[in-house]
Amino acid sequence: MSEILVLGAGMVGVSTALALQEKGHAVTLADRREPGRETSFGNAGIIQVEAAEPYAMPRAMGELLRYALGRSNDLVWSPSGVAGMAPALWRYWLASAPSRRAALGAVYAQMTARSTADHAPLIAASGSENLIARDGLALVFRHAAGFEAEAANAARLAETYGIESRVLDGAEWLREEPALKAAPAGAVHYTKSWSVADPGALTAAYADLFVRRGGRFVQVDADSLSATPSGWRVRGPEGPISAARAVLCLGPWTGALLRRFGLRVPMVLKRGYHAHYDAPQRPRRPYLDADNGVVLTPMRDGLRMATGAALVPQGAPADPRQLRRAERQVADLIELGPRVEAPQWFGTRPCLPGMLPMVGAVPGQTGLWVNFGHGHQGLTLGPTTAGLLAQAMAGETSPLHDALAPATQLKRTIR
Ligand SMILES: Cc1cc2nc3c(=O)[nH]c(=O)nc-3n(C[C@H](O)[C@H](O)[C@H](O)COP(=O)(O)OP(=O)(O)OC[C@H]3O[C@@H](n4cnc5c(N)ncnc54)[C@H](O)[C@@H]3O)c2cc1C
Repeated sequence: MSEILVLGAGMVGVSTALALQEKGHAVTLADRREPGRETSFGNAGIIQVEAAEPYAMPRAMGELLRYALGRSNDLVWSPSGVAGMAPALWRYWLASAPSRRAALGAVYAQMTARSTADHAPLIAASGSENLIARDGLALVFRHAAGFEAEAANAARLAETYGIESRVLDGAEWLREEPALKAAPAGAVHYTKSWSVADPGALTAAYADLFVRRGGRFVQVDADSLSATPSGWRVRGPEGPISAARAVLCLGPWTGALLRRFGLRVPMVLKRGYHAHYDAPQRPRRPYLDADNGVVLTPMRDGLRMATGAALVPQGAPADPRQLRRAERQVADLIELGPRVEAPQWFGTRPCLPGMLPMVGAVPGQTGLWVNFGHGHQGLTLGPTTAGLLAQAMAGETSPLHDALAPATQLKRTIR
């Protein structure tokens, strides 16, 4: 079996290294940091079985206007952020047409449906059971209109994809969640999703498992990647590291590296922030405060609040305004308590305009493969697309492999 170099040790890269190792390959996993320190560290921690359809861009004029005028906190933007991503945003908008929803869902749901089953053996083998809750994810609404719309959506998801949920009115939800200060209009509880008390620790535990099983982890800069007559090479700490094949799993940084190899893949980079709070009473299970686009997840370090999206340039400094505003917005339903002191974390959801991760061979570059662009669901889908990539590298094909392949996506949606 051949030597393979996996670049990027977030949830996607670590899972990819494990899946290739399982197929018998000698795998080197590489990152400039320790595993699981970037986007896979700070997310909301939900393994989202309920996310049968990828996160589309709103298309209603009223909603777009609210974003444009800065009235909504679930999406904020800066002029330079939007200008830099304009071509990708335009393609994302086109791909978000309601007429495309069924086709996208048919692909996406095949992956989210098996996400917990794909995580399960890794959770067990890495000894991470203590990090996992199997209590679902709730969507909580203050207004009847939003609640009723989500209840109808839940019925549609059940019928189309078999997603299980419970619909509860505000009083019922308050009985289940005494941590809330008041009854909301209602809540939809997607019962089969899991949550992780420390997503960075889960990624690191999977990386430890990879090393225990004989894999090698090295700290390198992927920007040193170059083609050789027999494969690919990066500069390692003790000299060059070569492999017959390389896989790019650099999350939000993948597009920039691909450009060096002649491939333009426009990405929508949606920044998000988190903070932890020492809440006097924690909710029993994670919930999306749907009116404000904020997820609150009980975690090891406290109650983690993760914000919606900020469309800003990737190198822009941290701007705490979205988080502060979210703190004020959620306060009518929950007492957050004091913020746990820590440096301000932010990370970037690596979104592709076609809303599907890109998994497969890079056209025109022999031996170069990718697994990236998991957008809002990379924690969920890491092990699933890793398995698909390992199959693709072994020459397996299927309609799902084809839908995720770079060649298909570049032709159909991205260009
Ligand atoms: C606020 C927020 C909440 C979220 N909530 C959820 C959720 O609840 N559930 C869910 O499924 N998903 C969620 N997501 C999305 C999810 O976190 C991402 O899709 C996922 O972490 C992407 O994983 P990745 O491995 O592709 O990227 P990353 O975790 O970012 O890993 C990429 C790796 O590449 C490395 N790298 C980059 N450049 C180089 C280089 N030049 N040299 C060497 N190494 C390099 C980085 O150091 C990093 O380790 C959320 C995201 C955010 C921001």
